[in-house]
Amino acid sequence: MTRGAIRAAWSSRLMRIELLPSSIPAADTQYLVSFLVNDAVVIDAGAIGLLADLERQQRIRHVFLTHEHLDHIASLPIFLENVYSPGPDCVEVLAAADVLEFLHGDVFNGRVWPDFLQLSSPENAFLRTTVLESMVPVQRAGLTVTPVPVSHGVDTLGLVVDDGVSAVAFPSDTGPTEDLWRHLATIPHLRAVFLEASFPSTHSDLATLTGHLSTRTFGAEVAKLPAGVRTIVVHRKARFAAQIAREIDELGLPGVEMVQPGKVYLF
Ligand SMILES: [Zn+2]
Ligand SMILES: [Zn+2]
Repeated sequence: MTRGAIRAAWSSRLMRIELLPSSIPAADTQYLVSFLVNDAVVIDAGAIGLLADLERQQRIRHVFLTHEHLDHIASLPIFLENVYSPGPDCVEVLAAADVLEFLHGDVFNGRVWPDFLQLSSPENAFLRTTVLESMVPVQRAGLTVTPVPVSHGVDTLGLVVDDGVSAVAFPSDTGPTEDLWRHLATIPHLRAVFLEASFPSTHSDLATLTGHLSTRTFGAEVAKLPAGVRTIVVHRKARFAAQIAREIDELGLPGVEMVQPGKVYLF
């Protein structure tokens, strides 16, 4: 076996995570949220329906939604349209009960988009839905996904994804929070957290008001993590992205890096 083949075999067993780019042409500027995990599961549907490779979209069978905000669901209708094929085999959308209700009433309501839920039958379905309950793990595609409530402007579930060897946390949108960090402290194989930093210090009041982190509160959240866990910064508001990166750099926190959209992270 060549070195390259050994590396390929080994990396195929690692958890693969990619934050899909959401600007055109693809750049570090990030507007929408979709994390692809092992090309089989996606966390949030902000950008998934815009992926140029349609076959890659079709391989995704499970869509987890953390909350109903548009940057996390924007391309879900497009995605479901893209991957539909007649028959009983369809995509599963997993979210809290109220998020599934909002999707039906506000998006798949026969006006904004066809009512894919009403149009679906067991023999021929656009999607099926599964209710996520706080702190109740679900198993999908070889991964255990545990929803943990966080502290955003609307009810939001952070997600912890575990393949038995590595665990990675996706807190989604949140301000300062507690339950998630307490839960993560119990996972010895936690490798990384994709943590938001939406606002710079100049807008910390707005961050507090809307349930986000600013560079004023970010450091205290990172300090609640066990040592040695990578913190990958996501969800910088595009117009403040450079300022946020500069201010986080000035905090001098160990193990903190800016996310690179389109990069494949292996854990
Ligand atoms: Zn949000
Ligand atoms: Zn968001």
